[in-house]
Amino acid sequence: MAEIPKTMKALVKRDENESYSYEDMPVPQPSGDEVLIKVDSVSICGSDINLYKWNDVARVIATIPFVPGHECAGTVVKCGPDADIPIGAKVGVENHYFCGECLQCKYEDRGICPIMGQFGHGKKTEYGGCSEYTIVPAKYLYVMKRNLSPDEIAMLEPLGVAHNAIERLEVKNEDVLVIGCGPVGLLAQCCVKALGGKRVIAADIDESRLQLAKKLGADVLVNSVKENLKDFVYKFTEGVGMGRICECSGASPVVNAAFSMLRKGGHIVMVGLPKSPLHVENVLPDIVFKALTLKTVHGRRVYHTWVEIERLVADGIIDVNPVITHKFAMSQFEEAFQALFSGKACKIVVDPSK
Ligand SMILES: [Zn+2]
Ligand SMILES: [Zn+2]
Repeated sequence: MAEIPKTMKALVKRDENESYSYEDMPVPQPSGDEVLIKVDSVSICGSDINLYKWNDVARVIATIPFVPGHECAGTVVKCGPDADIPIGAKVGVENHYFCGECLQCKYEDRGICPIMGQFGHGKKTEYGGCSEYTIVPAKYLYVMKRNLSPDEIAMLEPLGVAHNAIERLEVKNEDVLVIGCGPVGLLAQCCVKALGGKRVIAADIDESRLQLAKKLGADVLVNSVKENLKDFVYKFTEGVGMGRICECSGASPVVNAAFSMLRKGGHIVMVGLPKSPLHVENVLPDIVFKALTLKTVHGRRVYHTWVEIERLVADGIIDVNPVITHKFAMSQFEEAFQALFSGKACKIVVDPSK
């Protein structure tokens, strides 16, 4: 293994201005249960746009200063005295830094710990993946058992969100409408197929995203600029409505309308992040009398989801690579974000060593 250098490059958010600074900083030393990892790949999330721009959402989900990048794959290079992960192990980072002590952590799901910190968001850690080396406590590392590429390991974080959503939706032998074909929506479509769903109906307003959905196996494409989605659903289901909807667009009017597209007894899972309040007009026919099931997800089930998605990717049941449309060196981070803002890029992965 190569010698660990004294200094490294990293992106840092130091103040409330747009963008990040690209800095030289000392390579940190792991203490206690901390592990030093060399970052092999980090992918950029839709939520990173908020952090980059530092808008109102960012003020809620992040705390300055921090190194961004929560979708991170790395190789263990050094352990603190209380950590014992083998040097050279390939790891993914569970960015929800659970407390391990609360009700959710002990009896339900550590991924939804109400007092969790967040890697890459400055919550209880200043470290993130947009850095040549980073520090993660051992309990937040998922040690890979199978052989995945660095980019595939970085993609396990968003794939885990998609898998968690589709698992909760109970899709076996069901047709599933996935609204929104961003990275998580596309990965959710893959999960529908992997978990025994019947047909995937993919809806988006962008034709290039719909073509990506097709490439990943979507059976029916709906361009909701050209065709009213609700009209399509009732035509497609012969007036019954969808039994399963996975909402990944996060566009408030679409989320509101999604309830009217469900059949009686239908299930809906909300994954996208609406930025304004939701408002459903016909609450009785569209919600209460439907006896529907609403589920929401935040992150992954720790570590159940990681085990499942590692297997699905390693066995070739899910291929995350078509979702990755752009790769950038970390020094080109401004171009990477511009590609994201333009809507041309779907998933972007960044190499911190360049
Ligand atoms: Zn993410
Ligand atoms: Zn907790």
